[in-house]
Amino acid sequence: MTSRALVIGPAEYAGESGVRAYTEIGVSAVQYGEVLAGNPMWGGDRCRVLGPDEVMTAGDVMAALEEEAGRTGPDDIFMVVYIGHGAYWNDVPGAEVHFSVGSSYKDKPWTWLSSWYLYRAMRLCRAGLKVLIADCCYSNMLPHLGNGIRSLPGVLDDAGQGTCVLTALKDDNVRAWPHGCERLPGRLAHCTPFSGHLLNVLGNGTTDHRPELTLGLLRDAVEEEMSLCPIQHDRPRMLLNDARESRALFTNRMDPAKRAPRPDVPAGTGEWVTALLQGNDCDLRELLKDPRRTGDVVARLRASSRDGAASIARRIDKEASERFTEPGDFARYWNKAERAPRP
Ligand SMILES: [Zn+2]
Repeated sequence: MTSRALVIGPAEYAGESGVRAYTEIGVSAVQYGEVLAGNPMWGGDRCRVLGPDEVMTAGDVMAALEEEAGRTGPDDIFMVVYIGHGAYWNDVPGAEVHFSVGSSYKDKPWTWLSSWYLYRAMRLCRAGLKVLIADCCYSNMLPHLGNGIRSLPGVLDDAGQGTCVLTALKDDNVRAWPHGCERLPGRLAHCTPFSGHLLNVLGNGTTDHRPELTLGLLRDAVEEEMSLCPIQHDRPRMLLNDARESRALFTNRMDPAKRAPRPDVPAGTGEWVTALLQGNDCDLRELLKDPRRTGDVVARLRASSRDGAASIARRIDKEASERFTEPGDFARYWNKAERAPRP
């Protein structure tokens, strides 16, 4: 496995640029590098933190991005972390979120990096899972791309290629608070609040029984930690496109002795649906022992509007089609599963 992570954090700008420099951006970038280096699923040789001279222009950033993307294969994860300023102009061709680079000027959109180019390079990369972590203003707007494309799948969709975008902001909140959270330990207190809390979760792990932090677990843990912090924070958001919430992204650093015991197999249809949507690593063989229940679960997932529900339903449907070769079993499954309209 040659999963690669690229961290982009332009912290310095020309004095007359009108773009404010924040030390928190640079500290966050360095901390992503350190935390990833210490995470067994990654390690220092898989993570590249761009230095100040590598984030001066959009061309510099894209060259590094293409280089790292080119090193990944179908079994790998390609993760891009961006910490910096985000801007959004709706009077430029194809209004999209723009990311600042070291030579960006306020009110000069052409000096910024359009998120479209970053998406394009991610889409073309061969990695089986692509993850973008965006910690900047307007990151809530990332799914709203211009040219009439209102949703992420139109841009990042690529048959069976999962994508996850984790953003610092949710809903209509456009301003990301740049100053550190004093409640965080050590250097993390000097990161931006979203990155500081996310890195704190990665450093400590969670009490979940699993040895790895899945996409779903990470999202829930960061949301929970930020909502429990005495300092009031913006709420983060995660968007999935064909990426399973159960996909492992980091090693869970929590001492195994302090983790919760592995829960029993879900009991009823409702418990199965909840567990699958939460990204729990359920043993599907247990579910597939019962064709009717499998059908019920698929029907419930198809009717759900939750991110990822449709792709989980497709995955179970595929396994069910292979498993229920006996006509009676298949009919029992089919009768239940097909009650819900296909999306
Ligand atoms: Zn906090």
